[in-house]
Formats: sequence, structure tokens, C-alpha cells
Amino acid sequence: MELCISIHFKPFTISILQKNTRLIRAEAERLGFSFTGIARAQPLDEEARQLEAWLNLGLHGKMQYMANHFDLRTDPTKLVPGAKSVIVLMHNYFPKEKQTGPEAPRLARYAYGEDYHFVLKRKLKDLLRFIREQIGEVDGRCFVDSAPVMERDWARRAGLGWMGKNTLLIRPGAGSYFFLAELILDLELEIDQPMPDHCGTCRRCIEACPTEAISPQGYLVDASKCISYVTIELREEIPQGFQGKMEGWVFGCDICQEVCPWNRFATPHSEPAFEPEPGLMEMDQRQWHEITEGVFRRFFSKSAVKRTKYEGLKRNLRFLKGLG
Ligand code: SF4
Ligand code: SF4
Repeated sequence: MELCISIHFKPFTISILQKNTRLIRAEAERLGFSFTGIARAQPLDEEARQLEAWLNLGLHGKMQYMANHFDLRTDPTKLVPGAKSVIVLMHNYFPKEKQTGPEAPRLARYAYGEDYHFVLKRKLKDLLRFIREQIGEVDGRCFVDSAPVMERDWARRAGLGWMGKNTLLIRPGAGSYFFLAELILDLELEIDQPMPDHCGTCRRCIEACPTEAISPQGYLVDASKCISYVTIELREEIPQGFQGKMEGWVFGCDICQEVCPWNRFATPHSEPAFEPEPGLMEMDQRQWHEITEGVFRRFFSKSAVKRTKYEGLKRNLRFLKGLG
């Protein structure tokens, strides 16, 4: 008996939506972004309530700007009229270099190279230009930690990871040493789905934080207790309560990332702009404490460290010596 099998294939077509989304993802990867996620541009109602509670508890310290533009922060259509999609991009900054100078004050890894605001803004603008060339007239704006955009919430909504108990965005298989950048567009794209939380019963970040800035249940950080805040954002003298708890950090703090088990997956970035200035990693304790304005300019004129200015860095160094 002859067996007759006929298989019917559906004609494979991809929609304009899929085509545009794939084009954008491929270009983002070519520009050096590690991962791309897309969320629907809609009000962040639940996140707005959480932000309001955080502000009402005063956990933003003296970062008054966190309370400004509340409506812009929580509704992307107020930033880009007619917004349809929020493209969130992750860019690796995990360095292969380590500070090797004996007992050197510690610098958060994100600040080793050129200021990420400029590096990522350039890439985002290139991406927006590409979208306009390839897809047509698209209205959009680029954001890198500089405008009222709740980037971790968007990254979570865009399926890039979950917000860990240390409140950082964590991506399975990659960790948390990533910058986030956003493009809000009035262009409809394929949307990604959020992923579940994988912190489980882990409490390492909560237990390792030397200032108890992370709440006992996690998912809430009191910025006014955080070393990163006092070394970068605080404009006045560092409160004496931090004495003996700084663990050597002079600019930022990576402790709650260093202890996170997901960061065992971190791999070094390949972005030349994030390479540290020659000699910076080798500075020892004495060289740090004797840093002159000229040396500060040489190492940090293009770096995020210039946010503290020379006087701010000297204040932090004095505090580390117990002289603050
Ligand atoms: S950055 Fe440092 S001080 Fe701030 S929450 Fe994390 S471990 Fe604590
Ligand atoms: S250290 Fe543990 S609890 Fe903290 S963010 Fe990482 S996985 Fe979550």
C-alpha cells in the first residue's frame, strides 16, 4: 500500500511590526548594547505608588530632584506625545581591570572609564538616526539616567531582568553590572514580557551592606544611608554615623553587587571608552590621599567622578582617613 503524506506549510510572513523590531534589535547589538527589551509606553501606575511611598518616607535623602516632575516620571506620553514603545537597552560595564594599588580607596566600577552618560547618549542618538533612516518619520527621545525616566522599572517591564532585593536590575546569566538607557518612541513595536524574580531566599546583599541601607525585607534602599549617595550626591559633610562603615569606598559602592550570586556570570565589557585612564588602577593609598587638582583632571576630566568635583573627592578622602 502506498503511503501518501502531504504537509501543508503556512506561508511565512513577518509583519512590519516584527520587521521593525528585528531591525532595531540588530542595530542596537551592532552599536554595542548587550540586551534590548521593549515595553508598551503606558503610565507606570503601580511604580508611581511605590515611588510616592519612598519619597514620603524621605528615603531619597537630599536628592530633591527625585521628587520633581512626578507626572513626567510616571507617564512616558508626557515626555513623548503619542509614545507607543519604550526601548530599554543594557550596556555592560564590568571591567576586566582591578584596582591593584595597595590599600587604595575604592572606586565603583562604573566610574573607571569615560562618563557613561556621554558614551551611551552617542549610541542612542545613532540608534534613533538609524530608525529614522530605515523606518521613516519617528518621533522619539533618548534618555540616559539624566531625565525623569524610571529606568529600572522600564527595564523590568521590558523583560530584561528583575529588580533584586538590592533594587538593582538583575539579568539571569549576566548579572547587574549594566548601564541602562532608554528610547521612547511613537512607533509601535513587538513588546517583551516581564520575567519572574529570582532572588528567592537569598539575603546576601542585605547582610553585606555595611550601613544597613537595604531594608530587612529587601527591595527598598534608604538612599540617605547608602555609601554611594553620600560619596556622590551629598553636597555637605558626610554624617559621622558613616565613620568606620565606608569599607574604603571613595566614590560609589559596589558591595551589594559584589556579593550577588548572579554576578558570577559577569563578563568583561568590550567598550574602549570604558577603559580606565593609564595609571588609575595602580594608584596606591598615598597617591590617592595626595591627589592634586591636576592629577584629578588628568584621571577624571571625562569620567563620572567629576560629578563630585575635586573638593568632593577630597572630602571623601578626608572622611576615609577619619578626618571628616
Ligand atoms: S551601594 Fe553599598 S551602601 Fe548602598 S545599598 Fe549597596 S551595599 Fe549598601
Ligand atoms: S544578593 Fe541575593 S537577594 Fe540580593 S539582589 Fe542578589 S540574588 Fe537578590
